[in-house]
Amino acid sequence: MTADYIGRFAPSPTGPLHIGSLLTAVASYADAKANQGTWLVRMEDIDPPREMSGAADSILDTLQHYGLHWDGEVYYQSQRQQHYEDAVRQLIDTHQAFYCTCSRTQILAASGSTTYPGTCRQCHTTPSSPYAVRLQVIDRNIRFHDTLQGSMVCNLKQHGGDFVIKRKEGLYAYHLAVVLDDAEQGITHVVRGSDLLESTFSHWHLQTVMGLPHPHYSHLPVIVNHAGQKLSKQTYAEPIPHTNPAPYLLYCLHALGQHPPQSLKGASAATILLWATEHWCLQSVPHQRTIREQSLQHPA
Ligand code: GLU
Ligand code: ZN
Repeated sequence: MTADYIGRFAPSPTGPLHIGSLLTAVASYADAKANQGTWLVRMEDIDPPREMSGAADSILDTLQHYGLHWDGEVYYQSQRQQHYEDAVRQLIDTHQAFYCTCSRTQILAASGSTTYPGTCRQCHTTPSSPYAVRLQVIDRNIRFHDTLQGSMVCNLKQHGGDFVIKRKEGLYAYHLAVVLDDAEQGITHVVRGSDLLESTFSHWHLQTVMGLPHPHYSHLPVIVNHAGQKLSKQTYAEPIPHTNPAPYLLYCLHALGQHPPQSLKGASAATILLWATEHWCLQSVPHQRTIREQSLQHPA
């Protein structure tokens, strides 16, 4: 594996692949391959209540049909529970994380908002009632540069406060898992939807606290419907068909500001992806957080 560029696509198996997630897959793939990099697939299956049975296999099957062949083995977060637990333990032992028994109502009453006021910061012994584990944040601006969205700044203490790394139900939080696994897999470049742009501040802070490297971040515009909602299972985004990948791949490339020629219209997925890799220009991707679905010509 080349260590210069290791990218990834990290779907949550909450439903079959739809056009919004295909866009992220295509962009992360093309950016990795255009940089002679490695492209990994990580299945983020750590939230069973939100998952749909069969979705993980269906997503992988769709990627294959679309010519999006990953390097190495697929990595499953469900097999990494012990690792997450060890990290939580260590953060509690070093007093960087603490047990929290607060309910939403209590937080709202104490801070007048959803921002956590730090109530349980001194709690480092296991409580007898159900608890979450929160990571302590600092009262200081966190800054990072996003390749597409520009320079980003946020004070986590004032926006959200100490955040959950292990939930009351015993599930590990996305923020914790994503940071540990990006580091474990040696990810150098994260290309994902801008719905996760704000989450990056939490990731950045966790990386700093745990002494992990910060990858380069590029947050893509996400496709939204007429109501401004991101396409997802909740907004009834349709699964993409296996039969005819070309129009869907071309749709994504257009949305990503690339200009595939007319001659690719009936081409195979492999030919389109080869063109995409050879002509990929990350800076041509619209530097905005959303794209309206209506402004694009739908493939179906
Ligand atoms: N699993 C997350 C999602 O599907 C993406 C995580 C990431 O790319 O960091 O929304
Ligand atoms: Zn608390």
